[in-house]
Amino acid sequence: MKILTILGARPQFIKAGSVSREISKHPEIQEVIVHTGQHYDTNMSDIFFEEMKIPKPDYFLGIGGKNHGAMTGQMIEKIEEVVLKEQPDWVMVYGDTNSTLAGAIVASKLHVKLAHIEAGLRSFNMQMPEEVNRILTDRVSNILFCPTDTAMRNLKDEGYENIDCKVIKSGDVMQDGAIFYKGLAVKPTCKIESNYILSTIHRAENTDDINRLRSIIEAFNEINKEIQVILPVHPRTKNIIEKNSIKVDFSIIDPVGYLEMIWLIDNCDLVMTDSGGLQKEAFFFSKPCITLRDETEWVELIKNKFNVLVGADKIKITDIYNQREKLFEKDYDMDLYGGGNASNKIVKELYNCQYL
Ligand code: UDP
Repeated sequence: MKILTILGARPQFIKAGSVSREISKHPEIQEVIVHTGQHYDTNMSDIFFEEMKIPKPDYFLGIGGKNHGAMTGQMIEKIEEVVLKEQPDWVMVYGDTNSTLAGAIVASKLHVKLAHIEAGLRSFNMQMPEEVNRILTDRVSNILFCPTDTAMRNLKDEGYENIDCKVIKSGDVMQDGAIFYKGLAVKPTCKIESNYILSTIHRAENTDDINRLRSIIEAFNEINKEIQVILPVHPRTKNIIEKNSIKVDFSIIDPVGYLEMIWLIDNCDLVMTDSGGLQKEAFFFSKPCITLRDETEWVELIKNKFNVLVGADKIKITDIYNQREKLFEKDYDMDLYGGGNASNKIVKELYNCQYL
């Protein structure tokens, strides 16, 4: 059986770290990896392949740094050539990026079965490019692997019971990764105080709206007077901070690899982020999380008080930070994401359904 995997962005490499490792345990399955080039810097791409021992991509398409239309269009063209040549049994896509959508369109037009990992997530905010990508990808997938009960419910609400596809609750492959790589974590070489907050900002709604970005950074400047704030900065965020000469009074470092990131999460006091993946990783490592967005796909974290949504307002961020001791649940012993065997379930299911 041949699976053609489409990867392109950092969170997809991290998810593939677990699923590709599982595939490699099965000699009867061949995986062909296509890297679209959506993320291409060494510390946004190569480092994950090396550290997580993801097989080297068979195809590198080199399509990054473009607007949505050009990027998605060029990816469709190139992925189509690869799929026609490779004739896979499955095309497998992850998450919600332009690479996900491009892979989904090619597979559905060429009538190759499509598997979507991280299906069923919704923010209900159609302004987010990710939300558009998810909805369109889910609709043309043959197997939809949902990480959570909420994702299963979202698809049910959208009438997926009446659509010709298979919807499966696999659990979250990021939990598999967090468990597997925890023992391999590496302390970064930057200056790290004994107490610190780990933060990331990269989502378009925060970086493309300069007022939101400014407000978040001002809040971090304020909080950093009390406790070190460390921000491994996404290249997009870095460019906008520099272009607008926004004053930063906390620790900005280059993006780190996953093993260093895992160390930073495991040893921090608190996470402040707009990342989807990092919200869950905070939970996996029993850390409270303040989310710098107005909504989240990971609503079970909010409902159970592991995470608080604050948006981008400086006063709100510092207020919630000041109230942190009484806001968060402290018992993390709850199975929200499947317990760490999602990759195993996914690979088994694909193998069993190859003649679907
Ligand atoms: N991450 C990383 N190094 C960094 C910042 C993030 O390895 O410098 C990891 C993070 O731990 C998580 C993933 O990248 O596993 C999240 O990716 P990102 O925030 O880019 O995307 P999202 O999850 O929001 O789709």
